Amino acid sequence: MTLLTPNSPTAELQALDAAHHMHPFTHGQGLRDKGARVITRAEGVWLTDSEGNRILDAMAGLWCVNLGYGRRELADVAARQMMELPFYNTFFQTTHVPALNLAAKLAELAPGDLNHVFFASSGSEANDTNLRLVRTYWAEKGQPERQVIISRWNGYHGSSVGSGSLGGMKGMHAQGGLPIPGIAHIDQPDWWGEGGEMTPEEFGRARARQLEEKIREIGPEKAAAFIAEPVQGAGGVIVPPETYWPEIRRIVDEYGILLIADEVICGFGRTGNWFGSQTMDIRPDIMTIAKGLSSGYQPIGGSIVSDEIAAVINGTEFNHGYTYSGHPVASAVALENLRILEEEQIVETVRTRTAPYLKERFESLTAHPLVGEARIVGMMGSIALTPDKARRAPFAAEAGTAGLITRERCFANNLVMRHVGDRMIVSPPLVISQGEIDTLIERAWQSLDEAQAELAAQGLL
Ligand code: PMP
Repeated sequence: MTLLTPNSPTAELQALDAAHHMHPFTHGQGLRDKGARVITRAEGVWLTDSEGNRILDAMAGLWCVNLGYGRRELADVAARQMMELPFYNTFFQTTHVPALNLAAKLAELAPGDLNHVFFASSGSEANDTNLRLVRTYWAEKGQPERQVIISRWNGYHGSSVGSGSLGGMKGMHAQGGLPIPGIAHIDQPDWWGEGGEMTPEEFGRARARQLEEKIREIGPEKAAAFIAEPVQGAGGVIVPPETYWPEIRRIVDEYGILLIADEVICGFGRTGNWFGSQTMDIRPDIMTIAKGLSSGYQPIGGSIVSDEIAAVINGTEFNHGYTYSGHPVASAVALENLRILEEEQIVETVRTRTAPYLKERFESLTAHPLVGEARIVGMMGSIALTPDKARRAPFAAEAGTAGLITRERCFANNLVMRHVGDRMIVSPPLVISQGEIDTLIERAWQSLDEAQAELAAQGLL
């Protein structure tokens, strides 16, 4: 067959894609009818599609391209590593230089006693590791009945059987027999959507106390761990009320269960610190990492665990691992990504300059008639669309209708914003400039205007 190129006609690219390529989280027929948008190249925060449009990527790909597109250093490191040692495994008493350096660097960056890394190629794989790791940890400690992991409805931890079960996406649980046994879910701290008449502070405490209730219901001797994202990402950038995490910490300490912070989105500068756990003042026993670890230039993830957990797990043979655990090329690229983040002081710049500016501009969207609230932490934020701000009312249509209309308008205006239900999300590359933030907000406002007109025409306002 003749391979197509980025310069091939869009219709041909779309037709070949539709014929053979199955897309994640996509209605296949819907996509075939419409034709996929073909992204051909990217630079900084800008994507180019096969029609030559320049699109502002306010999602950093899938929350991962923290450094922005087109960093030659990362490509150079990958090429060098491929020539020196393209692959070797880390099983059976072998190691290699990129993996050992990366593990040590992560131990240096991670807070507290999180000094040991088990590598994977994605966030899903890393959370599967965590599932087996915490259960093995308790078994080795002589408490094999501690098996149940508690997580949250509408949390996202990945798409594999294990990580999809840990997550609380009901649409995912409906397919393929999830969740697996030994996982329990509590409600999310989404005050806008579910807070009712409570103040955010009351609501934050109430939702945290569900953890305590769940531990008691399961039996404290059976509770192994609680897993959560410091700030829920895929669930809609749900920023918990300030009372939430302190109460969770109290409960976790009181019942002696492990705390897993899923930092796949929050890690590596996204919230204005190296890790979301620092921003939210959480002291986890395990952190899940991926995405921003390599800015998405290579698939890599992992679990960073405490000295205590490592000591217990290293006391046995942990029968777990992936061919690509600590892949040399991915590790080398991740190390280079971390070097750039550090040397260019990108996390500090986010905290002191970029995030405050984005917050100010993003929150100005609440002046739009369609926008109820804007919540933002560092470089991840969302706005809630509503027909009635005062009542925090949902739309009369099925949830997600207004979000989808708005996302389509954004797309038409060359802005990638994602919708989760009727929340619109941003999570741009950390290197976005103030001028580009202005463009983002202008395009978002314009798209909201157009969505408002469309919703009105459909009788939904
Ligand atoms: N955890 C979180 C918090 C995530 O946001 C994601 C991906 N969006 C994952 C885990 C899964 O990561 P991956 O898609 O790399 O498997």
